[in-house]
Amino acid sequence: MARDTCDGCGRTVTVAGGIANLWTFGEDDGSEGTAMTLEFENGSDHLLCYPCIAALPDEPTDADVARLEQVDEETSRLESS
Ligand SMILES: [Zn+2]
Repeated sequence: MARDTCDGCGRTVTVAGGIANLWTFGEDDGSEGTAMTLEFENGSDHLLCYPCIAALPDEPTDADVARLEQVDEETSRLESS
């Protein structure tokens, strides 16, 4: 499991990966990742935490990622400009 930071809000995240995740899938044992890599239609990809993914619109763009900000440990939002 790799540690990294969210491209949107910058919070520290963990990325589950490798075969070990198969055995823990669906179990809340604390070993699941807290982020996913999203690939956009323009070919760019971003590592985003789940709160940021939840805050993004259905068809997110790089501009949306740039507007993401952390509200608290469990919540992110799009900064209004
Ligand atoms: Zn985030």
